[in-house]
Amino acid sequence: MVLMAFVVAHIPRDILEGMFVVAVGGMLVSIVRKVASGEMRANSCPHCSRPTSRAYPRCRHCGAQLVDSAWSRNRPVL
Ligand SMILES: [Zn+2]
Repeated sequence: MVLMAFVVAHIPRDILEGMFVVAVGGMLVSIVRKVASGEMRANSCPHCSRPTSRAYPRCRHCGAQLVDSAWSRNRPVL
């Protein structure tokens, strides 16, 4: 009887957890499918061709100036 009450009391939490798993899993599957199909690709450095961020003016691997970075687009003089 106590076990039954325990199981019933946790059903809403279990449903919520299941919904989280579906939401996060769906996002992961969507990202993996987009990367695999070539619809989405990581930005890579033109000099060392390693993945880097466009948020910074220079490549963090080789230090090369990134012409397509947000810094060079929005701030012509550093
Ligand atoms: Zn680089």
